[in-house]
Parts: sequence; C-alpha cells; structure tokens
Amino acid sequence: MLMETILIDRPELEQELYNVAEVAGYLWEKGWAERNGGNLTLNITEYADEQMRALPAISPVLPIGKTLSNLKGCYFYCKGTGKRMRDLAVAPLCAGSIIRILDDCATYEIIADEPILPTSELPSHLALQDYMIATGSGYKATLHTHPIELVALSHSKEYLDSERLTKILWSMIPETLAFAPLGIGVVPYALPSSVELADATLEMIEHYDVVLWEKHGTVAVGKDMMEAFDQTDVLNKAAAIYMTAKNFGFTAEGMTPEAVQEIRTVFNLPNKR
Ligand SMILES: [Zn+2]
Repeated sequence: MLMETILIDRPELEQELYNVAEVAGYLWEKGWAERNGGNLTLNITEYADEQMRALPAISPVLPIGKTLSNLKGCYFYCKGTGKRMRDLAVAPLCAGSIIRILDDCATYEIIADEPILPTSELPSHLALQDYMIATGSGYKATLHTHPIELVALSHSKEYLDSERLTKILWSMIPETLAFAPLGIGVVPYALPSSVELADATLEMIEHYDVVLWEKHGTVAVGKDMMEAFDQTDVLNKAAAIYMTAKNFGFTAEGMTPEAVQEIRTVFNLPNKR
C-alpha cells in the first residue's frame, strides 16, 4: 500500500520537492555531501492551501532557538537532521519534513510526512529565510554544502580575503562574473551551528552571492534550490580551474582587468568592485 503523503493532489509542491531532490543528487555526485553533510531549507508557503493549513501537527511544539518575526504562518521543507543528501535525492520526504512556524515566531511543529526533526542548522537557515522575506528578495531556498575546491582554498590565509578571492574567481572564465556578479564573501572559522556563525553569514549574504565558511563549506540562497546550487557551482568551477592550473605547475594568469570590465559593461552588471 502506498504511504499517505502531503504531495497527493499538490503537483506544484511535488515539482518543487523534485527540484530539491535533483539538487541533492548533484551534491552527492560532486562529492560535496558526504554522509549527512550539508543541509537545506525551502520556503513552500505559497503552496500551503487551506487543507494543508488545517493539518494537525505530528510533533510536539519545538523551539527554533530564535524569534523571527517575518516567518509567522510560513511553511518550510527542511532536510532532516542526520539524513543523507543521497537519500533525499531519492525520497525528499523520507530524509526531510515539512514544518509550520507558529504565531509566536519562535516555535514550529512538523506537519508531514513523518516526524523527522529538521537539520541542527535550522536556526541559521530560518534566520536567512526571515531576512529574505524582510528584504522582499523573492528568495525561497537556502543551501549549505561542502564544495571541495572552495573549501580547500579556505585553508590558506592567502585566500581568506573576500575581495581578493572574488577577483581571482571572476577572472577564471567570463561566465563567473556574469553569473555571480556579487562574488564570494568569506566568514572566518566558527563552530558549526553557533550563533556567531549564523550572524556572520547573515551579514555577508547581504553583499555576496555565496558565503564561504573558512575550513567548512558554503551557504547560498536563491529563488529556488537550483539557483542556490548554480551560484555555488559557478564559483566552485572557477576555484577548480584555478587549482588545475596550480596542478599543471603554474598560477592561472586570469582574465585582464580590462576583459573583466568588458564583461561587466556588456552584461550591464553593477560596478560594485
Ligand atoms: Zn557543513
């Protein structure tokens, strides 16, 4: 017998979760999501119809750990704590769950499909979601993963400067600047799940496309999960090219500042740096 799922008669929500699953598969294939590494959330409030809003909780009321005033009545899909991306790729509601934020904006409850507890990074992901709503960004997805080449670069002080690292990555191929025009912001090492890390990430995401956590991984946001993945992928590709040149025994020359400026002009990109 088929298990009851919230996705029955909700094809749009099903499609969104299918996209999340597709991204989770890429993360695993790329070697960015070992074991239960990485986590993600997706704002699905737009799909919360009356029946969904009336669904009873299948968990106790749980604390977020923060009060996030823009999340009142919002619904999120969250990867489950301890769950694997490669399992999420096959069945998103067996490796994650759907939660409802309660009216106090400080607690939530799980409503479907199973009482799978969300990622331990939930407070930092929801703080990003709160910020994305507050700014009217239209962004719905948050993604934390472990892209190998970017994390490797973050092990050298030489690359821990956001401006310097961004300039190197932009100069690898023309598309990097075009698709990640705000670049990458580096956050100094902090304990995973710490308030310090969450606050620093929030500060950085205002100014950069992707945030790189020193010796750990990245955080990206997007209108959907694929966009958050693409931002990360574009910047990591540039890091991989830089690394490949190093493996050939030389430092990549990089596009000239004039060539980078030309891309900026042609694509009408903000002259931020
Ligand atoms: Zn991590």
